[in-house]
Amino acid sequence: MILFIHRKDLRIQDMPAFEYITQREVPSLHTFIVDPAIIGQGRHVEHSGIQFLRTLSKLVELYKHDGLTLHLLYGDPIEITHDLVQRYPVQEIVVHEDYTPYSRERDGKLERVAAQRNISFTSLPDQPLIDWEDFHRFAERTDAYKVFTPFYRKWKAYMDLFFQPPVFTDVNELQTVALDSEVLDKYSLPFLIPNSSIDEPSVRLQDFIEDDLDSYERYRDYYSEEGTSHLSSALNTGAISSREVYAAVLHLPQAESWRRQLAWRDFYLYQSHQDPVFYSYENRFDLSALNDFHFEAWSQGNTGIPVIDAAMRQLNQTGYLPNRLRMITAMFLTKNLLCPFSLGEAYFRIKLADYDHALNRGGWLWCSSLGYDASPYFRIMNPVTQSQKFDPHGRYLRDWLPELAHLEGKALHQPHPQAIVDLKGSRLQAIEVYRGILQTS
Ligand code: FAD
Repeated sequence: MILFIHRKDLRIQDMPAFEYITQREVPSLHTFIVDPAIIGQGRHVEHSGIQFLRTLSKLVELYKHDGLTLHLLYGDPIEITHDLVQRYPVQEIVVHEDYTPYSRERDGKLERVAAQRNISFTSLPDQPLIDWEDFHRFAERTDAYKVFTPFYRKWKAYMDLFFQPPVFTDVNELQTVALDSEVLDKYSLPFLIPNSSIDEPSVRLQDFIEDDLDSYERYRDYYSEEGTSHLSSALNTGAISSREVYAAVLHLPQAESWRRQLAWRDFYLYQSHQDPVFYSYENRFDLSALNDFHFEAWSQGNTGIPVIDAAMRQLNQTGYLPNRLRMITAMFLTKNLLCPFSLGEAYFRIKLADYDHALNRGGWLWCSSLGYDASPYFRIMNPVTQSQKFDPHGRYLRDWLPELAHLEGKALHQPHPQAIVDLKGSRLQAIEVYRGILQTS
């Protein structure tokens, strides 16, 4: 019997693990282990946790619909796996690769649990579009790409030659087995899973291609247009595979700019794997100027800078924020307010419905001028000019800050007299502080 553990792959189509299992022609036990270390600390009632649990609930339905069994278990993944391999005749554990420090450590432990009982442990790539090692062989490189543009050029060439299209497995060939009620009771979830009302990602993808792809390049930064795909959450939970998404736009010349964003996704996943300090940049970043009041005002949308306040309200209420606004708010926090990026990163982790450790960290590092190919420390976005440029009619501000709706033209975008920080002075200060940090690190 194979024990298959779902992670960020909450779907049943284009699953490398399913292809692998069906070829083995043995029964398989399918689980998802809700790990309190990941979903605990109240995250199950915040946007990021709720979205994940909804997608999980949808996955249970997909299994049922095809007459298959998936068990949701709650607890420490090592302890549960240990218990399962003692109770059932498991010959092999199969998972998809996961790259965060926590998951790598967890998978190392799982591998040891398997080895103790002579069980094989198979981890298959799934999240990125490219296979790092193969890509490096193709690029004839031993060291990692540190700049996006040459990475992207090679990535395109690699994809043209080696892109693996999605595979549609006949799931009826899976022989899923059920757990005993004693085990189910032992690891039952301590909270209710929210209902499965999520958009069907392949429908969203088609709608985006039909309605918005042609104008994506032009409008992607104009956040009141809402012309982006909103597929990030489905990509990060694995409700849709990156291969399915890429295949849908493979031959569309107007999709170049959108494919480039998918390459950014791969670049951050790659960086999280290749850069040994990707997850520890905060150690170089000792900002003692932290002001708790500033952080609180930022997170609650009470800074007195309209675009920041509108964006934080959208994030807090909906769990989504367009990319341009993530950049503006992150730069404002780390530069104008001189708060450590890790504070904002942790806040986004709770609030973003599409939260992903590598992409979120990649975005925060970029805004803080850290990591591979970051924004230069002296180029600090001015939230007022950004707001005037990307929301020229003030539609977004009026939607999220109705109390300002009476203001017209440029006045709408201006900081209030009681804004928590002076944009000009804080910009100059940030340049000095960052110059110091980056030159000594
Ligand atoms: P589209 O514009 O339709 O792009 C298609 C896909 O490409 C996205 O779904 C995403 O998978 C990928 N993509 C787009 N922009 C980027 C980018 N700048 N970097 C990496 N991949 C990208 N994205 C997340 O998915 N999860 C996060 O936790 C996350 N945190 C971020 C934090 C900060 C500070 C910043 C600046 C960016 C962050 N991003 C994150 C990247 C980006 O903002 C979102 O992927 C995008 O806004 C999602 O909207 P969409 O699906 O409509 O994107």
